[in-house]
Amino acid sequence: MKKHNFSAGPCILPQSVMQKASEAVLNFNGLDLSLIEISHRSKDFVDVMDKARALALEHLGLQNKGYQALFLQGGASLEFLMVAYNLLENKAAYLNTGTWSDKAIKEAKLLGDVVEVASSKESNFNYIPKNYEVPSNADYFHCTSNNTIFGTQLQSFPETNVPIVCDMSSDIFSRQLDFSKFALIYAGAQKNMGPAGTTLVVVKEDILGKVSRKIPSMLNYQVHISKESMFNTPAVFPVYVSMLTLEWLKDMGGVAAIEKINNQKAALLYSEIDRNPLFEGFVPNKEDRSKMNATFNLTDNNQKDRFDSLWKAAGINGLNGHRSVGGYRASMYNALPLESVQVLVDVMQELERSN
Ligand SMILES: *Cc1c(COP(=O)(O)O)cnc(C)c1O
Repeated sequence: MKKHNFSAGPCILPQSVMQKASEAVLNFNGLDLSLIEISHRSKDFVDVMDKARALALEHLGLQNKGYQALFLQGGASLEFLMVAYNLLENKAAYLNTGTWSDKAIKEAKLLGDVVEVASSKESNFNYIPKNYEVPSNADYFHCTSNNTIFGTQLQSFPETNVPIVCDMSSDIFSRQLDFSKFALIYAGAQKNMGPAGTTLVVVKEDILGKVSRKIPSMLNYQVHISKESMFNTPAVFPVYVSMLTLEWLKDMGGVAAIEKINNQKAALLYSEIDRNPLFEGFVPNKEDRSKMNATFNLTDNNQKDRFDSLWKAAGINGLNGHRSVGGYRASMYNALPLESVQVLVDVMQELERSN
């Protein structure tokens, strides 16, 4: 039987998507050829790319609003640099809420001045800073909507005229937001959309072309837009699987429907973390807790061996916390069923009973 997969990334994808993807590897569209051995310029693949780009915009409610969707390579990590290359002329403002924000700041500093508007580093990133000011003369404001490692999530975004850039790698397509508030959104596929190997970038075209530096072609969003995300050979398999996942999401009822299920999953797990005396959440402030990645610890570390053997025996995978936090992390991405969270909660209760 398939395991209950709480892996933080690469992570669970819908089983029906896996099935279709494996069929396409053997024989794509009845061509008697594999998806991964045909030209990316063939009509069959161009249709995949077009569909994936259109579905991404549709799920975010950004069709016909001046946005373009791209499927690029280099991971979210390359976007840390690309964002600055394309948008940073003088000064950029960054909110530092964890390892990924920290890395984004480091790359931006290569190209210009960075103002850290707020940071939760002093308490190991266990909360989301509030009440900070975004300087009105910044070229853009950058934030990370969901902090995969620490298990915090932004519930609100600043009201500002400065373009907002957001790393949504680990919560894209998981909840409804007014996405038109963002000038640029990026997300590595492997957290909530597909296999590792492609990164979704959704960018408002009118923010581009304003910096004076020369931008290398592969790092230039305008080049990728003008070539309809086919400037060079795209990551055909990851793009195809992402397209299938976006179709699956549409069949499920879209972001609004999946958000309801995500809320149920998070409520189920956090209420057990708060109720069960053997566990405590890593993030004290409830409103800052991530609905995608729940981080928690045992209150008594002598329970560790027993808890670990219980969840492994229950068919659970990927529950160990990131080394910078320790403890446990349950990642509850879109494709994780509510039943898997119930299995984890049952194990937590079994640990309590056996004491
Ligand atoms: C995983 C992750 C990244 C890094 O993604 P790569 O594709 O490995 O470069 C960046 N930001 C966030 C929020 C992540 O969860």
